[in-house]
Amino acid sequence: MPDAVKVGFVPLSSAPRGSLVVFCDDGLKFGAATDRALGATANIVKRAAETNQFKGKNGATLDILAPQGLKISRLIVVGAGKLSTLKDNDFLKLGGVVAGKLRPGNNAVTVIAELSTGAMKPDQAAAVASGIRLRAYKFDRYKTKKKDGEDAALRADVSLAVGDVAAARKAFAPGAHIVDGVITARDLVNEPPNVLFPVEFARRASQLRKLGVEVEILDVKAMMKLGMGALLGVAQGSTQPGRTVIMRWNGGKRGGQPVAFIGKGVCFDTGGISIKPAASMEDMKGDMGGAACVVGLMHALAARKAKVNAVGAIGLVENMPDGNAQRPGDIVTSMSGQTIEIINTDAEGRLVLADVLWYVAKKFKPKFMVDLATLTGAIMVALGTEYAGMFSNNDQLAGRLTEVGLATGERVWRMPLGPEYDKQIDSQFADMKNTGSRNGGSITAAQFLQRFVDDTPWAHLDIAGTAMGAPKTEINQSWGSGYGVRLLERLVAEYYEAKK
Ligand code: MN
Ligand code: ZN
Repeated sequence: MPDAVKVGFVPLSSAPRGSLVVFCDDGLKFGAATDRALGATANIVKRAAETNQFKGKNGATLDILAPQGLKISRLIVVGAGKLSTLKDNDFLKLGGVVAGKLRPGNNAVTVIAELSTGAMKPDQAAAVASGIRLRAYKFDRYKTKKKDGEDAALRADVSLAVGDVAAARKAFAPGAHIVDGVITARDLVNEPPNVLFPVEFARRASQLRKLGVEVEILDVKAMMKLGMGALLGVAQGSTQPGRTVIMRWNGGKRGGQPVAFIGKGVCFDTGGISIKPAASMEDMKGDMGGAACVVGLMHALAARKAKVNAVGAIGLVENMPDGNAQRPGDIVTSMSGQTIEIINTDAEGRLVLADVLWYVAKKFKPKFMVDLATLTGAIMVALGTEYAGMFSNNDQLAGRLTEVGLATGERVWRMPLGPEYDKQIDSQFADMKNTGSRNGGSITAAQFLQRFVDDTPWAHLDIAGTAMGAPKTEINQSWGSGYGVRLLERLVAEYYEAKK
């Protein structure tokens, strides 16, 4: 789906057209170019600010229609707040605030990318551009008509007026690919489950070949041959066959040890024979948010030609109740050889991940593995929807994820692991069982996964609270948030990419 909102760059001195967006600080001060563009209209702004008690607080806006003295239809003043406290991520949010003000009919928009201290730096202007596109995203491909009062499609051509057009374009080039990756992930999460089943998901992932990604699709026969009995046990209850997709981006040193990302891709989770209650079951179309993130991340890395070798691996299944579905009490043998007693068929994500983690650990011997999974409701009980839960066997990796989480706003909170929790998943019949008690449910899930990573440095992100249905933010109004793409892209860029 082409973006309805396009963003480009023009020189700071360009004459504004259509709607004009300008930034002020918490003293209501503008930059010099903005002052010139406003001219005598600055007085109207001042009066409007007083009437509306607008003080330039970060994220606050002032909207003036048909401002006298200017050849524009609308003037939007966006508060940037106290400039000394602004971080990179705040520019992304400012872009989101700008896009949040755009209305159908605002076809041409000029944004003066300037603060009272001067033109924004190229990377700051690029972040504003990214924020505009992230906020403007809307998943409406299945709406054939608009209800009364519902917004007509937003179409806008946004020009960011910047000090150095070439530098801003250069800074935005990787950012635009990262936004594309986030949008790819959001689209996948938002798609309905009758459209996006494992085979179709695999087909969409294979489109990454256009970007130079090697994509290998393991069908049921191939997975049987590998002995992926844990994943296949989940898949067997559905008429839609399961798939595992391996994506490889080789942008680093030839043959160099890769980094690896693994995603849970349960395209729909009914719970299986341990069926879920009906209320909100439709949300379980998003139980592939981890896999969606991995595809979006691989898109971002490949499109911006990251200097890294990266493996993305996703386990795709549908968890259905059926005459052929697995039962509580079944014992399955995972690819690792370890046996698992199924207690609750709704604890299926860890079964899928068990085989994919093991496969990646053995086949690629990566520097590290990060898996993402909408794994447990318990993580929402613990952390709400603001942080993803992080579990790791490696302090350095955990520390880096925490850092990039704070920088990107896709935050993670480290949770404990420990052998004491293992008792909960001891089984009287098999090597382990697939659920523990209600207490510490997200921790015992992580303990379970840890048994399939061997000694590989590993982090597990439980994104049940952040991947879908999280509260709307400045840069996301979509149900599927695309959480994790920006986080892991930054992790690679900061720590694992060969520097130019
Ligand atoms: Mn489940
Ligand atoms: Zn699930």
